[in-house]
Amino acid sequence: MLHYKVAIIGAGPAGYFAAQALQNLQNENRIFAIDMIERLPTPWGLVRSGVAPDHPKIKTVSKVFEKIASDPNFRLFANVEIGSEISVAQLADKYDAVVIATGSSLGKKLGIPGEDLHGSLSAADFVPWYNGHPDFVSVEVPLDCDTAVVVGAGNVAMDVGRMLALDPTELDPTDTADYAIVTLKKSAVRDVFISARRGPEHAAFTSPELRELPKLEHTNVIMNKTDIEAAIVRAGDAPEKDVKSNLDAMSLIAETQKTEHQRTLHFLFQHTPKEILGTDRVEGIVFSTLNGDVTIQCGLVITAIGYQAVSIDGIPYENGKVVNTDGRVKENIYVVGWAKRGPSGVIGTNKSDAAAVVELIAADLKVPKNVGDIADLITNQVVVDQAGWQKINEAEVAAGETRGKPRVKRVKRAELLSLAGL
Ligand code: NAP
Repeated sequence: MLHYKVAIIGAGPAGYFAAQALQNLQNENRIFAIDMIERLPTPWGLVRSGVAPDHPKIKTVSKVFEKIASDPNFRLFANVEIGSEISVAQLADKYDAVVIATGSSLGKKLGIPGEDLHGSLSAADFVPWYNGHPDFVSVEVPLDCDTAVVVGAGNVAMDVGRMLALDPTELDPTDTADYAIVTLKKSAVRDVFISARRGPEHAAFTSPELRELPKLEHTNVIMNKTDIEAAIVRAGDAPEKDVKSNLDAMSLIAETQKTEHQRTLHFLFQHTPKEILGTDRVEGIVFSTLNGDVTIQCGLVITAIGYQAVSIDGIPYENGKVVNTDGRVKENIYVVGWAKRGPSGVIGTNKSDAAAVVELIAADLKVPKNVGDIADLITNQVVVDQAGWQKINEAEVAAGETRGKPRVKRVKRAELLSLAGL
């Protein structure tokens, strides 16, 4: 029996799907002992701190993660950061393979004047803020203005726009962080603009997200009919399936727009951000358009224009990603998910992506090293293991039950550790 040890750094979807692919390759001659190492006291990555709280169905993938974690050869080492006290090189010495699955958590910058003003922030800060990520609890989100502008035309911009334009009482039955619901309930924002620099035919939204907009119960959704008609003409007779599906969904929005609600989500196309205005804080944003410059007065600008991976000591890094060839980085080190291919695709995309990398790992394996594991490297870190995480999970879910929510998240590290019994 060959007994291989694999360390996976990062407990998000890409990490779990890599673990699952390894488990699927186990047979009577070969087992994989998997140690998943996570910086936060809690696993699940973007499923916990990225997916919009009003999309609970997407989070049911966590059941798959917990099944993967129930394998007797799987161990969780949460609350352990790689790169500071323990290096990737140290792991690579101990394990037969190391898989980097650390995602992309840094928001890309527009690089225009005014971007650093108070009231200008990235979705990379706003999304983990409303999701109760321990590192983002104190992000300041000024909602004392009547208008907010979201820059970008992808699903993250859509999530951000919806979270700002929903009636906050709609978040009561969700796992949105309690402090975020309190702040959103005080919000003065009534008009939210989602701005795309190109036309509707190039928008990166996916059609299910567009199709849910007319169903919003307390928000008007405004798309300009002539924008959509012009895009349909530009897309030609045989647009790609996804483009056609998006344009169909947008036509429906443009035709059925409501005006009876207090809150409105507007879409702007062919608006390229040029400058964010203000002295002490954001007062407006200037866009260049086909008809010249257009200024929208607003107190909040949130950019949702893509992400970059955080670089890791000793790991080659370029253009916001870990440098790799089909997931191979160097020696016995591999990368999966957004850190490998950039921030694209839905959660499920990581399944096939990780499976392909795991095939390469299996092909590269030699004789098992059998020279110890992360337990030998841990000195003074307080580790949340799978049993500890299960205690946190159960306590959060139980707290949610009494309040009609899927869970009530604990948002401070110390509280999470105490729930884990540490
Ligand atoms: P994305 O889909 O790549 O969209 C990024 C958007 O930013 C694009 O519209 C892009 O426009 C725009 N952009 C980039 N640079 C810009 C600039 N300098 N100025 C103005 N606009 C700029 O990225 P994302 O929204 O961050 O989403 C990441 C991935 O997660 C996507 O695959 C997404 O589908 C997925 N996701 C899925 C869900 C879901 O399934 N519900 C939810 C959230 C995220 P150009 O096209 O013109 O470059």
